[in-house]
Amino acid sequence: MLFPHCCLTCNAALTSQEQQVCVTCQANLPTTDLHQYQPNPLHYKLSGKAEIMHAMAYLQFSKGGKVQRLLHSLKYHHNPELGRLLGLWYGHYLRGQGCQFDFDLITAVPLHPSKLRKRGYNQSAVFGQGLGEALQIPFEELLIRQRHTESQTRKTQAERWTNVAEVFAPARTPLSVKHLLLVDDVITTGATLSACIQALQAAGVMRLSIATIATAG
Ligand SMILES: [Zn+2]
Repeated sequence: MLFPHCCLTCNAALTSQEQQVCVTCQANLPTTDLHQYQPNPLHYKLSGKAEIMHAMAYLQFSKGGKVQRLLHSLKYHHNPELGRLLGLWYGHYLRGQGCQFDFDLITAVPLHPSKLRKRGYNQSAVFGQGLGEALQIPFEELLIRQRHTESQTRKTQAERWTNVAEVFAPARTPLSVKHLLLVDDVITTGATLSACIQALQAAGVMRLSIATIATAG
């Protein structure tokens, strides 16, 4: 596996100690403080659909910004290691802020099998695995994506919600998990996460929290 020799966000040459992002860029990533507030704007994106304990996002997405470059590399440049690193960094960041969680398990929003074959990995799952490594919580794939959803980008908010309804199913039942952390790459409207949450709760998950790499808007 070859790793980039230049920082993914500023193109500076990396030292042998740095991985993918230089220390300066890493220290200046636009982190959110959403984990400190409950409820926060992420909860409201999911409100009325499910009871959510913690709703957190590592980074603030902005168009043309550093986070967009990272997500692009993660999704389109065959860079699963970046997902794991982002998970590790977020986990260490949360621990450094004194956050204490009682998650039993971490799971990720699944990709449709055809997309998974094409990409080679699920970018949300590698993030969840890195996060689990840092927080010392096991990761397991608990959901399957039953059909391919059309691209969400040209849809209205109402269409997005209908588009993902009943797309997700539990990989096994019952899911006797007390407190599950569900992770995704980006939260925009919350429609995809809400559909996953409904499937997980119907399968027996008692308490749910969500964490994403980034929040947009
Ligand atoms: Zn840099």
